[in-house]
Amino acid sequence: MERLEQLYEGKAKKVYATDNDEFVIVSYKDDATAFNGLKKGTIKGKGVINNQMSNRLMKMLEKAGIPTHFVEELDERNTVVRKVSIVPLEVIIRNISAGSFAKRFGVPEGIVFDEPTIEFSYKNDELGDPLMNAYHAIALRLATREEIETIKSMAFAINDNLKAFWAGCGVTLVDFKLEFGKTSDGRIVLADEISPDTCRLWDSATGEKLDKDRFRRDLGGVEDAYAEVMKRLNEHIEF
Ligand code: UDP
Repeated sequence: MERLEQLYEGKAKKVYATDNDEFVIVSYKDDATAFNGLKKGTIKGKGVINNQMSNRLMKMLEKAGIPTHFVEELDERNTVVRKVSIVPLEVIIRNISAGSFAKRFGVPEGIVFDEPTIEFSYKNDELGDPLMNAYHAIALRLATREEIETIKSMAFAINDNLKAFWAGCGVTLVDFKLEFGKTSDGRIVLADEISPDTCRLWDSATGEKLDKDRFRRDLGGVEDAYAEVMKRLNEHIEF
């Protein structure tokens, strides 16, 4: 498939048109940002890891019956995905307290929940991605009630799947962010990426952080952490 003009440049990825109107090519960069773009940096090799990890996990989810935008990995950094219109919601699933949840509710990180939680934020950089409930999303016509229900059940199914997979790798899936898209025929599919940029992943034995919090919190060893989770994924994923 031919890579044509650039359509969009985001913080971590670029999107290109292709010769087929149904597909676009996503190109993963090493650029890292945090705190709504306030902190900027580079994580060497991140683009390759995030591309490969996201594709492998999406293939695994497809096998489990969850529709995704994934079509074909072209090379280390470039992947063909179905063109979708992104539902402008960040869908966050949590199994353990961390990050903004711990801060908002004044609790320590590391509380293991009896059941996973779900929350939405409005994808809007100018507003700083404010927290939003389903009624707000429906009122603003960001999604229909039916689409929200589909997104919720897909997100929990994805959590069951990813949690079990990562547990097999000796990694605890603390929380993660998903984005969903709508295809031209109106189907909701998982879009964006699943990577250490968008998931909190803790070593199950030591509690060591193996994700973007190493960058956000200046913990050092960022590249090594990304390489470590990628290595564990490769050792455990079934193709
Ligand atoms: N997350 C993300 N993009 C965002 C905000 C959050 O991928 O713009 C992910 C983050 O990596 C974590 C989860 O969503 O795995 C929950 O993040 P949280 O709300 O705790 O926000 P943070 O503490 O990262 O600001």
